[in-house]
Amino acid sequence: MTLLTTFSFVLLAAHAMRVEGPGAALFWLLALLLPLARGGWRHLAMAGLLFFGVVLWAEVAVQLVGQRLLLHLPWYRLAAILSGVLLVTLASALLQLRRVGALRGEGGASGLTFLLVVTLLAVVRQKAPFDILLFDRFYPGGGWVAVFLLGCYGAWLLARMAADGEGKWRRLAWSLFSLVFFLQLGLGLLGLDLFLMTGKLHLPIPALIVAGPLYRGEGLFMLILFALTILLVGPAWCSHLCYIGAWDNLAALGRKRPAPLPGWTRGLRWAICGLVFATPVALKAAGVPTLVALLLASVFGLGGLAVMALWSRQSGTMVHCTVYCPMGLVANLLGRINPWRVVIAEGCCSCGLCSRRCRYGALSGTDIRLLRAGQSCSLCGDCLGACPHGHLHYRFPGLSRNGARTAFLVMAVTLHAVFLGVARL
Ligand code: SF4
Ligand code: SF4
Ligand code: SF4
Repeated sequence: MTLLTTFSFVLLAAHAMRVEGPGAALFWLLALLLPLARGGWRHLAMAGLLFFGVVLWAEVAVQLVGQRLLLHLPWYRLAAILSGVLLVTLASALLQLRRVGALRGEGGASGLTFLLVVTLLAVVRQKAPFDILLFDRFYPGGGWVAVFLLGCYGAWLLARMAADGEGKWRRLAWSLFSLVFFLQLGLGLLGLDLFLMTGKLHLPIPALIVAGPLYRGEGLFMLILFALTILLVGPAWCSHLCYIGAWDNLAALGRKRPAPLPGWTRGLRWAICGLVFATPVALKAAGVPTLVALLLASVFGLGGLAVMALWSRQSGTMVHCTVYCPMGLVANLLGRINPWRVVIAEGCCSCGLCSRRCRYGALSGTDIRLLRAGQSCSLCGDCLGACPHGHLHYRFPGLSRNGARTAFLVMAVTLHAVFLGVARL
């Protein structure tokens, strides 16, 4: 790191210390450690942070000079000092940006993931009406440290997942998310309210994302979040972001190779979905008390656990997610409005090796003949490395195969890192 860059980050830390306190200052001081990170992503990360800094100095200059003008106080010297600081920060940013030019593939993608995670978390932290980041609850301002660390985690995970054709890192990250989510819920239930979102508990059953509002006529937050992720990454909610799906994935891994499910399970999936969404409407119309509705929802949730333990584990296919949980079908159907697809290139010899990797039952003989993943595909990407000829790939209009996969991973990992920071009940 050049002296100029160090100086710029220290100035930003000093300003943050004055305005927000030690937590915000630590955010900028942590940026001084970025050169220690391995991989070229650090240059993009530093350039991005310094450009944020330029915007910050511009805002400060406008605000302070404006105040002085209003009070008819001298302002030239202040404007000159702040302009100098802004130019130093801008020069540091451009210096880092020059090095970004040499980045290829994952280096740029990791840097972009870092910046997206940091930006999204900073905005969410700012806008939330309560301390949404856990660190802030233990130490006011500590959320800035979480923002920085989650950005680094996103950059690190992106590089791992990009180099992994088997989905090992995706499964680990997904399981980690579920573990953190339920650990916080457990601690919250033990009386440590700090680990709960608002203290208004609800059952952690994905079907309630739709069924809950249908019964209550309110509580659309999770539904909106679900729809937003579908818009960004299609049905990947069901392979990267759901706190329950990770369990089904682990259950299915109990058998080495997935066995295809009987054809009638497709009809069963639609029937369960219809029943689950019709029930809350009927319960509401009949004026059934909330306690009874909660009891029914709990029975449905426990039924899901039984499906995982007995059917997914035995078949090696994620039966809970591809048959039982209605949100899987909703994600698959709504996901069609999103252009992300997993497809098979011409030249496929239908050897079927890839279908042994798919736990979602989305690579049947028919799917392979039609050269695309089937309806139940969650865009998990596990099959990509299974084809010895590299025929499987992500597709997105206007992007190359590698570009489509990298862009998809940036979005999925960014959402995962943000969810890891904020998702709790
Ligand atoms: S199908 Fe349901 S449980 Fe499975 S990952 Fe999707 S929302 Fe979660
Ligand atoms: S087809 Fe591939 S990307 Fe789609 S669910 Fe199956 S393994 Fe995952
Ligand atoms: S492994 Fe490759 S060649 Fe074999 S069926 Fe799958 S896509 Fe086709």
